[in-house]
Amino acid sequence: ESLDQGLEKTKEGFLGKIARAVAGKSTVDAEVLDNLEEALVSADVGIETTVEIIERIEARVARDKYISTSELNSILQQEIENILVDAPADTTYSNFDLPAGKKPFVLMVVGVNGVGKTTTIGKLAHHFTQAGKKVMLGAADTFRAAAVDQLTIWSDRAGVPIVKREMGSDPASVAFDAVNSAVAKDIDVLIIDTAGRLHTKTHLMEELSKIKRVIQKVIPDAPHDVLLVLDGSTGQNAIEQAKHFTAATDVTGLVITKLDGTAKGGVVLAIAHQFKIPVKFIGVGERVEDLLVFDKHEFADSLFN
Ligand code: GDP
Repeated sequence: ESLDQGLEKTKEGFLGKIARAVAGKSTVDAEVLDNLEEALVSADVGIETTVEIIERIEARVARDKYISTSELNSILQQEIENILVDAPADTTYSNFDLPAGKKPFVLMVVGVNGVGKTTTIGKLAHHFTQAGKKVMLGAADTFRAAAVDQLTIWSDRAGVPIVKREMGSDPASVAFDAVNSAVAKDIDVLIIDTAGRLHTKTHLMEELSKIKRVIQKVIPDAPHDVLLVLDGSTGQNAIEQAKHFTAATDVTGLVITKLDGTAKGGVVLAIAHQFKIPVKFIGVGERVEDLLVFDKHEFADSLFN
């Protein structure tokens, strides 16, 4: 399965660290908890999130008096699931379905260059098309010619229309054209790519707000989802980017890519916990099939089993 394969490196690192944390111990005592704390931090789970997990386990130890180290994995798995925020609409994308009554469903995609934004949009276009939806792409990243070219390649591959203009055009006017065209063509889901320059916070904020405003001229409750794409292999950098983007705009979902290339998939926990924004998709490879709808139970399960 592509989830298990994609998380293999993370799982190996994670379980290895936990095994070392409990080595030679039969019960979970203060020393085991210290070791465990170190293990989680070094797996990129993040200090705050680690502390919360440890506190939850401490509370269990205090309550149950005796917890054997062999029980620790399943307890950890449960607490990790508890830590992963509930998606307000966990089922929004299960089987790449879309909520009824929102047509076109407008998905705005944000994130810095190189994180896998274009690839994610291409994968989404593929999956929604496979699920029988009419998809359109909007190339509102008019800053990089390469971005529009790449997106065009993905639109050809998925066989879906793309609305684009020459480089340097006003991103908001491309978004406006795209929304109008999507309405006229009876499109189910419009995916809008945006420029990911971290120029200045105000600049980013203004550009994203302007795009939103023009979309709302046509569809008042759109965009229906604002997905921030983060590269899971970049650890602390991904967290910095999440801070930057959540300060600039209302991010409603996260996509964490490149989890296949890293042993540091623990960052998913840190990000989901710290920002209280649901992780909606994860990327575990370069092929279209390697974009998965995030399921916290499956995720936690594949880390331990
Ligand atoms: P953008 O600049 O954010 O649009 O990034 P791209 O979509 O062009 O992706 C940058 C590179 O990351 C490309 O080589 C992609 O194939 C690769 N990539 C994207 N997502 C994943 C993923 O989940 N796993 C792996 N291994 N590579 C990915």
